[in-house]
Amino acid sequence: MTARPFSRGQVVDQLRALGVQPGGVLLVHTSFRAVRPIEGGPLGLIDALRAALGPVGTLVMPSWTGDDEAPFDPTTTAAAEDLGATADLFWRQRGVVRSDHLQAFAAIGPRAETIVKTALPLPPHTPDSPVGRVHDLDGQVLLLGVGHDADTSLHLAELMAKVPYGIPRHCMIEQDGRRVRIDYRENDHCCRRFALADDWLRVRGLQAEGPVGHGTARLARARDIVGLAVDAIRQQPTIFLHEPREGCAECDEARRG
Ligand SMILES: [Zn+2]
Repeated sequence: MTARPFSRGQVVDQLRALGVQPGGVLLVHTSFRAVRPIEGGPLGLIDALRAALGPVGTLVMPSWTGDDEAPFDPTTTAAAEDLGATADLFWRQRGVVRSDHLQAFAAIGPRAETIVKTALPLPPHTPDSPVGRVHDLDGQVLLLGVGHDADTSLHLAELMAKVPYGIPRHCMIEQDGRRVRIDYRENDHCCRRFALADDWLRVRGLQAEGPVGHGTARLARARDIVGLAVDAIRQQPTIFLHEPREGCAECDEARRG
């Protein structure tokens, strides 16, 4: 049996019931597959998110490229496939502003320029990056059909707490008409242990959870997510990495780096 599509109005009601703040800044990570069907598809979902925020709210989504070697053009380069169909449709909509660099975010609303128009942040989620600006503006983070493993605010927390791990990475950028390689170290790993944030937020009543479309959503303030994670990292710097005996290749690589 095919599930009945949620209407835009129903999704707006769900978002408001969850606690999305009209007029606020909302950073959304989503898997449309987990919440569908919604009337209008991913565009219907974007529409509902904007309606829930109202005219003075600002909607933000990740929009970086999946190819750090290719030239990045904010008007043509697709968003990384693992960001999902909604994120890739979002930056293409009229009025949406996108960063000029390959660690792009996209946003619409009064704070859009402030959030996405940053210099290229390396590693990607520094305090001066779009995700850092969402944090500074006291934005909310909405995980829609995804868990904290997709929550970039936790990478910001890792950098603020100066985690002792990282993976060597590089990207190619355009500089004075030449292609230039930049090497950097990124605080990356499998991210599965980011799920610890669920309990940290839940026991303090700082995470709302409920249905949006056919999926489950989590909503919390970026400052709460980051603050609790920074405290946890300060107590145990590798808390987000699997132990070596758990055999996670990505966490092992981060630990070696
Ligand atoms: Zn791992």
